[in-house]
Amino acid sequence: MKRILTSFIAAIAIVGGVFFFLHNRSNTTSVEADNQKLRVVTTNSILEDMVHNVGGERIELYSIVKRGTDPHEYEPQPSDVSQAVDADVIFHNGLNLETGGNGWFSKLVETSNKKFDEDVFAASDGVKTQHLTTNKDEIDPHAWLDLENGIIYVKNITKVLKNKDPKNADYYQKNADEYIVKLTKLHESAQSKFSDIPESQRLLVTSEGAFKYFSRAYNLKPTYIWEINTESQGTPEQMEQLLSKIKNSDVKSLFVETSVSPKSMNKVSKETGLPIYSKVFTDSLANEGTIGDTYYTMMKWNLDKIHEGLSGTK
Ligand SMILES: [Zn+2]
Repeated sequence: MKRILTSFIAAIAIVGGVFFFLHNRSNTTSVEADNQKLRVVTTNSILEDMVHNVGGERIELYSIVKRGTDPHEYEPQPSDVSQAVDADVIFHNGLNLETGGNGWFSKLVETSNKKFDEDVFAASDGVKTQHLTTNKDEIDPHAWLDLENGIIYVKNITKVLKNKDPKNADYYQKNADEYIVKLTKLHESAQSKFSDIPESQRLLVTSEGAFKYFSRAYNLKPTYIWEINTESQGTPEQMEQLLSKIKNSDVKSLFVETSVSPKSMNKVSKETGLPIYSKVFTDSLANEGTIGDTYYTMMKWNLDKIHEGLSGTK
């Protein structure tokens, strides 16, 4: 009788153990189960840096579009697909940045079997959008160039990281709080930065019309050769329109983005006799280890260089 009872208890223990094991496997995320870091993928280097500021060393981070490369149109590589498949979270900008043009990102999400709002999140969620002037139905994606929007991005990223990886929630929040203080200071200092420049000189000339949000936030007038990188670039009509706007202003210098070819802007410079004062960062950070390799330093560089160039003082 005693032996039967012992076997019975042992059997219950085995069944219970197996049940406990299966139950745990199916009800916990891979992060908790094998104590691995949350795997996060971003579409571009600007989001990569924001996520890095919040997630620090407690996440695995992979970014798809490499620095210096245009994120509007892209062809995902096999490594991008495998990283997306393995990701716990994918952040994209949204606002048609990666889903306009050839729509590379929508295809990648489908291929990697991920779902929007479950695994895939738009960092721009909740920003006050602006529309293109050439096609009023299309949203201008470059919201991050207003630091106030950048702060919304950071808050969205933090919320998702905390939800997906609650054991590190306090750590993420603390990092985010510190980062937001730093970004807020830069934003506040930028708001009156350009008020010492006469209005007729405050024309910000770039290749792509990426500075709409930036110009609204910091009181400049944006103008450009083409409005968005997904359209044809540097056509004779586009050049003519820009040249007449420049002629009707007192602007002292031009700017060229690091993620577009300088060919068209060189032409504008030759036609107008105005110098290209500096490179500026729009859709990509600088290579790691060089100036502008973080969102903060890219914004600071843009603000400082644009101020110097528009003032007409060296
Ligand atoms: Zn762009």
